[in-house]
Amino acid sequence: MRREEMTARLREDKIWDLIVIGGGATGLGIAIDAATRGYSILLLEKYDFAKGTSSRSTKLVHGGVRYLAQGNIKLVREALRERGLLLKNAPHLTRKQAFIVPSYRWWEKWYYGTGLKLYDLLSGKLGIGKTEILSAATVLQRLPVAEKKGLSGGVGYYDGQFDDARLAINMAQTAVEHGAVVINYVSVTGLLQENKKISGVEAVDILEGRSYKLRAKAVINATGVFVDNVIRMEDAQSPGMVAPSQGVHIVLDKKFFPSDTALMIPKTADGRVLFAVPWHNRVVVGTTDTPVDQILPEPLPFLEEISFIIYHFNKYLSSDIRESDIRSIFTGLRPLVKSSNTGNTSILSRDHTIVVSGGGLVTITGGKWTTYRKMARDAVDNAAFVGKLDIKQCITDKLKIHGWQTGTAEDDPLHDYGADAEHIYNLAKADPELAEKLHPDFPFIRAEVLWAIREEMAMTLEDMLARRLRLLFLDTRIAMEVAPVVAHLMATEMGKDKDWEDLQVENFMQTAHGYLP
Ligand SMILES: Cc1cc2nc3c(=O)[nH]c(=O)nc-3n(C[C@H](O)[C@H](O)[C@H](O)COP(=O)(O)OP(=O)(O)OC[C@H]3O[C@@H](n4cnc5c(N)ncnc54)[C@H](O)[C@@H]3O)c2cc1C
Repeated sequence: MRREEMTARLREDKIWDLIVIGGGATGLGIAIDAATRGYSILLLEKYDFAKGTSSRSTKLVHGGVRYLAQGNIKLVREALRERGLLLKNAPHLTRKQAFIVPSYRWWEKWYYGTGLKLYDLLSGKLGIGKTEILSAATVLQRLPVAEKKGLSGGVGYYDGQFDDARLAINMAQTAVEHGAVVINYVSVTGLLQENKKISGVEAVDILEGRSYKLRAKAVINATGVFVDNVIRMEDAQSPGMVAPSQGVHIVLDKKFFPSDTALMIPKTADGRVLFAVPWHNRVVVGTTDTPVDQILPEPLPFLEEISFIIYHFNKYLSSDIRESDIRSIFTGLRPLVKSSNTGNTSILSRDHTIVVSGGGLVTITGGKWTTYRKMARDAVDNAAFVGKLDIKQCITDKLKIHGWQTGTAEDDPLHDYGADAEHIYNLAKADPELAEKLHPDFPFIRAEVLWAIREEMAMTLEDMLARRLRLLFLDTRIAMEVAPVVAHLMATEMGKDKDWEDLQVENFMQTAHGYLP
């Protein structure tokens, strides 16, 4: 997947069946769906694939136990089906994860146990493990760090877990393999209109500084929390549809949570659930739900959000963690769709919403990472209707995602690459320097940097350290420490000069500061 080959396609004089704006889970899902139906599709992403919310999730492939408590059975059932399909279609990047909900009041394990058994039932044939009511001794055996005082037992259940940004990259590759053109660092700056109908987009290639007018039979706005900016390109007076809500996660060393079983805290002070989930030999704890006014590409956590997570996590642990134990903090914005008169974002719709404007702009937002495939199907169905395209059926329910491989050992450091791991090992075999680790505390090797440039369209140091290698999310200080070495490796491979290298490091350091405690 090479960017120069993709940008060459922008210079063709053609009318695309579909243009999709936004390269997060939703846009990439749409590119795969449309390409596999046989439509010509162009995807334009302003920054990098998954730079937005799609790299900042809790990393769960789930039905959403919280929505069950809200009685939203339809949403949960649909998401559980998608969970099952994703675990089958991208086995190298997803896995079954055991969870425990510890109980400190006698009735809790029966109450949550009943709900989670229903969760299990709703997954039907795509279920991944049985919910069980556990004794206090079993909870402590599986979750030795759990607070012992007052523990009366718990509930064990299963959900899915994944690497969000790496899935996004593999989805981009899947789309390209089926004929889509997907490009990062191309920003849509305006909409083309003919006879009051949307007929394409104006776009700027940020890296090359070139502008384009690109025509399409239908345009899909899949820009997540940014959808209102695109809607206002057609109708400057539009009130907008998104109420952004911020979610923060902290990342800790495994030693604070040395268990393979994840923790689910069923009810925080604001009525949410909070998770502690093992991820790449660290543990991710979150999240919060804080309404915000500003929609920034790099949202920042509030101090109260960090204290909130630490407070609730400590309540369930036998020992306490402190702010200084945090390795990284990442913040994502939920594109919740506004309902008229509520100021509380935790009760706004988590389902996806599709709106078609007067000029035919198809906007899709909301939903979840887990349900991207279903969202993509609905968006393409709508866009095909708007663009008067030949009707073709969606075929993604059994479509293998790039890298698909089963049976790889979990402890293989290149496990997440699936079938691509072999190529990276070959690079490392051919040049022993490429087999060297970037840092002794992490398994990442130099060959992965070359691979990400050659095959995964990594264009900047941030693309590399945040979304190809995930180091920024796992340990911000270590990511900052290795940044100059990685920038140099990238510059050598990409034929860039010292000024480029220095600028990459400077930009990365600035961004990384926002991930430090
Ligand atoms: C804190 C948090 C935790 C979550 N955890 C989970 C979870 O565990 N499991 C789960 O299933 N879901 C989870 N979700 C939900 C899930 O992450 C989101 O629903 C999903 O990532 C949204 O993807 P998207 O593609 O719609 O938006 P985004 O990922 O934000 O993508 C939109 C893209 O559009 C691009 N863009 C914007 N403007 C333009 C323009 N003018 N031109 C070109 N491109 C543009 C942006 O750069 C961005 O990359 C979580 C969400 C949050 C906030």
